[in-house]
Amino acid sequence: MKDFTYYNPTDIRFGDYIDAQLAKVVAHFGQKVLLVYGGHSIKKNGLYQRVIDLLKGFDIVELAGIEPNPKIDSVRAGVKLAQDRDVVLAVGGGSVIDAAKVIATAAHYDGDAWDLVVDRDLAQKQTMLPLVDIVTLAATGSEMNVNAVISDPSQNAKVGARCPNPPAVSFLDPRLTFTVPASQTAAGSMDIFSHLCEQYFDRSDSNDVSKGMIEGLMQTVTRWAPVAINKPDSLDARANLMWAATNACSGLVGAGTESRWSCHAMEHQLSAVYDVTHGVGLGILTPRWMQYVLDHDESTAKLFARFGHRVWDLPVLGNVHNRAQEAIDATWSWIFGLGFGMTLPEIGIKDEAHFAEMAKTAAAGGLDHAYLPLDAQAVEDIYRASITPGIH
Ligand code: NAP
Ligand code: FE
Repeated sequence: MKDFTYYNPTDIRFGDYIDAQLAKVVAHFGQKVLLVYGGHSIKKNGLYQRVIDLLKGFDIVELAGIEPNPKIDSVRAGVKLAQDRDVVLAVGGGSVIDAAKVIATAAHYDGDAWDLVVDRDLAQKQTMLPLVDIVTLAATGSEMNVNAVISDPSQNAKVGARCPNPPAVSFLDPRLTFTVPASQTAAGSMDIFSHLCEQYFDRSDSNDVSKGMIEGLMQTVTRWAPVAINKPDSLDARANLMWAATNACSGLVGAGTESRWSCHAMEHQLSAVYDVTHGVGLGILTPRWMQYVLDHDESTAKLFARFGHRVWDLPVLGNVHNRAQEAIDATWSWIFGLGFGMTLPEIGIKDEAHFAEMAKTAAAGGLDHAYLPLDAQAVEDIYRASITPGIH
């Protein structure tokens, strides 16, 4: 196990606590609130009005319209509104929380917010406004980490920023996710599963704490995602997915590992250039990445075989290579069963025009130290393998 430090001060309120506690929690930070949210979902399902009613008497300024794969222009608009605010309240999915995080970080920064997205050291030096959030979609874990992924379409860029603090308080009520459509439930579940894979497949073989926690969370996601898709108001399914999402990306399960997040690096380029849904891109890339890893390094078969046994319940029978292959096939089947397109052409990416440039950027993000080190050519091969159906 590698040495590590771990500190995560986010105050979690999991369950039906919003009505009783939201006003008190926000008031703790002040009266001047910047309320950040996305498109129409919170107006349609009544959450917007509920929050406004609960915060009667507060001085509220609103920033609506944060888009999926949040754009830097939305962040810039938020920074202008945030300067005299005491607290930022984000109500939405990962996109809204990510945008709100950077807005809170840049509120008192004199330069352009993009500087803080690309320069992690500079971001750490800022005094961040306190951030409170209400999560409406189980996926990113943004509610309990310092990460924020922001896009700049003018330069085909999608960059993972690091803010000085995670949210101060996060309200997680799984009932708020009953209205998440099947396609977003699938994409969110795939994102959770990918966060777990990114931290599971690492070279520090001796970290059994991490492996065991991740296997448990993988079992949770693989079991409950299909239930939530078929029965959107299953509280058990929504609660398990929501708490799994938070734990998958809070830094805890990856503590003491050497994970390098290969599929996320590759997917961020897909989203940057084609604005695809993050979880959908991950669903296409993850099994291809697994296949590429096994095909290029037989020593990885052992861990894939363990993953197959612990997560997919595959019997410990036959040689290690075959068991590893069965584990990858089982992963494919589960992702396929979530119901979204499994090739790049199915999500509108029909040619390879940008692959070389995307691969170069993805590989430059530290993939030479990944579980299987990947150079630009390897990443390009994985993009190309994602054009054709299947993994064999
Ligand atoms: P999202 O982009 O926040 O939301 C996706 C869609 O779901 C939006 O159209 C949204 O509609 C809708 N939605 C949200 N809650 C809903 C509800 N309760 N009912 C109905 N519709 C609802 O999705 P996300 O997967 O949570 O976030 C994805 C972003 O986070 C990507 O940019 C990804 O790269 C990033 N990410 C961040 C981290 C991190 O650690 N910070 C980790 C992984 C990924 P409205 O806009 O109308 O609300
Ligand atoms: Fe993710």
